[in-house]
Amino acid sequence: LDELLQELDQFLDRELPTHESKWGDQLDSWDARCAWQRVMADNGWAAPAWPAEHGGRGADIMTQLAIEERLSARGIIQRPGVLGLNNVGPTLIAYGTEEQKQSLPRILNTDEMWCQGFSEPGAGSDLAGLRTRAVRDGEDFVVNGQKVWTSNGMHATHMECLVRTDPDAPKHAGISVLLLDMTTPGVEVRPIKQINGNAEFAEVFFTDVRVPVENLLGPLNQGWTVTRTTLGHERAGVATMAAHLEREATELVRAQAARPADDRPRAADVDRLLASYVETKIVGRLSAQALSSLARGEQPGAEQSVIKLAWSEAGQRLAAARLALAGYSGVAGEPALASAQGYLSARSSTIAAGTSQIVRNVLAERVLGLPRE
Ligand SMILES: Cc1cc2nc3c(=O)[nH]c(=O)nc-3n(C[C@H](O)[C@H](O)[C@H](O)COP(=O)(O)OP(=O)(O)OC[C@H]3O[C@@H](n4cnc5c(N)ncnc54)[C@H](O)[C@@H]3O)c2cc1C
Repeated sequence: LDELLQELDQFLDRELPTHESKWGDQLDSWDARCAWQRVMADNGWAAPAWPAEHGGRGADIMTQLAIEERLSARGIIQRPGVLGLNNVGPTLIAYGTEEQKQSLPRILNTDEMWCQGFSEPGAGSDLAGLRTRAVRDGEDFVVNGQKVWTSNGMHATHMECLVRTDPDAPKHAGISVLLLDMTTPGVEVRPIKQINGNAEFAEVFFTDVRVPVENLLGPLNQGWTVTRTTLGHERAGVATMAAHLEREATELVRAQAARPADDRPRAADVDRLLASYVETKIVGRLSAQALSSLARGEQPGAEQSVIKLAWSEAGQRLAAARLALAGYSGVAGEPALASAQGYLSARSSTIAAGTSQIVRNVLAERVLGLPRE
């Protein structure tokens, strides 16, 4: 591991200053982030979890975490193609035909940007209730329906799309996964503006969209099993983010301690921050345990749900503490906006990848063995 991290440090020392000076104040722009992902891909760092034969490093989850920590310490949090790199790519590696796997290098170098078309109006928590239909017609499936909350939908060139292929089968058994080119006629993407002012999601409408049958990923009507691979990778990502939260809280505590005597925060805000800090420490320990059991090849179990719940709710409390500490400057002015944005953005973490209520249901039924209502 030490050798690998040394190689990463050398890569960052060599490439990051050139990239930063090239993009200057545009560093956070979409184009700059794509350019940086390409630099990472050229050097084998865009998807360390992928096997070496596909351009990764075969890193286990603890190594991935160490790499992510190194990157985040240098200000690199997420690659723009994160959904392709973390979720779709591993699913293609597990289920894709040789032809479908041709997408892998293009995912690494940003030529292909992927999104996940799972949720629909009326099918979020109850994902298996999805109604977007795909009907076989000759050598194509014809797709009609709608997706919603599609992250990165506006930038995506392709979608991993869940469709109903057998309306008569029990709801989990009639679903398939199609790999859909977003430029196909009949695909319409409408961005959704969020409470934080950004538009990171889209609604996607399909009207008689023809998808070649060779774009079916995995067996027909077994999309639910294929999707579980994708969602499993999404949950591993949550455990990694939980580990970052502790670091964020520690930095915030240090920043408060360094404030000059005439600019001390209010005692109530300090109390709130310290409570939040302790909470993130606990979440950090929990996620370290879960990550090491994943590294030993154990199935993600109840801990995974506890972490999702604890991480998302602790993250919201930390964001509230940060906003309170920033005071008036938290809602007006530069670093301010960052606190307000962080506060608003944190609202989504208790919805994405399973709402808090759904996760509590899972824990109640599968861990505590409580009866269903
Ligand atoms: C940041 C973010 C990114 C996302 N990215 C994507 C993406 O890329 N692709 C994609 O397909 N989707 C994405 N989603 C959608 C996400 O998967 C859904 O929002 C989520 O599954 C909840 O579904 P819903 O919004 O339809 O809410 P609903 O399922 O309608 O739930 C509404 C409310 O009812 C509660 N509820 C529902 N059922 C129960 C129950 N049985 N018991 C108790 N309470 C219940 C929920 O907890 C919630 O409070 C994203 C969401 C967010 C916030």
